[in-house]
Amino acid sequence: MPQRVICQGCSYVLYEGTEFNSPGEIIQQYNCTCPKCGKRLSFLPLDIEVKPVNK
Ligand SMILES: [Zn+2]
Repeated sequence: MPQRVICQGCSYVLYEGTEFNSPGEIIQQYNCTCPKCGKRLSFLPLDIEVKPVNK
């Protein structure tokens, strides 16, 4: 099932795809910072949201 990782600060889609990547790896690709709002992203689920994509 496709999944989506969203910045909790601005709802920017950090990752969307069918492969499961851990949120930690995705965050590291952005240097732990949201490219849109500049929010510091941590591994805590409070900062990002992982959702299945219903299509
Ligand atoms: Zn953001």
